[in-house]
Amino acid sequence: MTQPQSQTAAHTRRPTPLSSIKVWIFDLDNTLYPAASNLFNQIDQRMTEFIGERFDLPWDEARRRQKQYFRDYGTTLRGLMTEHDVDPIAFMDYVHDIDVTPVNPSPELDTALERLPGRKVIYTNGSCRHADNVLGRLGIARHFDVIYDIVAAGYVPKPDPRPYAHLIDLHGIDPQGACMVEDIARNLVPAAALGMTTVWVRSEVDYARPDRGGVGTGDHIDHAVDDLTVWLSDLTSAANPPG
Ligand SMILES: [Mg+2]
Repeated sequence: MTQPQSQTAAHTRRPTPLSSIKVWIFDLDNTLYPAASNLFNQIDQRMTEFIGERFDLPWDEARRRQKQYFRDYGTTLRGLMTEHDVDPIAFMDYVHDIDVTPVNPSPELDTALERLPGRKVIYTNGSCRHADNVLGRLGIARHFDVIYDIVAAGYVPKPDPRPYAHLIDLHGIDPQGACMVEDIARNLVPAAALGMTTVWVRSEVDYARPDRGGVGTGDHIDHAVDDLTVWLSDLTSAANPPG
């Protein structure tokens, strides 16, 4: 395989060649569909509504609390569970009840995944229900044999290293033969530490940017790509020339 549109930094570790990858671990949101779809904005609004209804707060105060939980606990849900014993299933059912039609079906991504050798796994800080909705809308659900969601992770979100170790243990994944694909660069740090090859889908979203704590440069990034579908299509068509 060639490595089109890749940016390879000086390495102190050696990433596995993409042609030898046995397991592909994909993040979901803003990785398998463009951040411009703004699905997270809908989820973000639903979180504020949930907190407002739950604690009978005006919008601004609910918003402030939501962001405080996010800062203090890594995710809003973690803060709600820790401080208020909120039922995580009720929270996720509420916040993931969104309109996924801003995401377009992607036959191109479907074809690229079909051609890509190896197992494919989803690793998301969201829920299986949300992943099913989005993968169904994209038309690519058939490629994934595992969805490792926040419930499977015991509600411990990326980039805490513990669920990464749990994921590979649970599903018998050799990290040296695995490649993780993510838009939030700091979520690739634990993957690289385990020996995985990493692909960063460049993001302009604030929390994913290197200058906003996103760690978008450095030894934990093996390949940086602008458009995952284009990159995978190039990669797989090079490996599977027509005819
Ligand atoms: Mg993401």
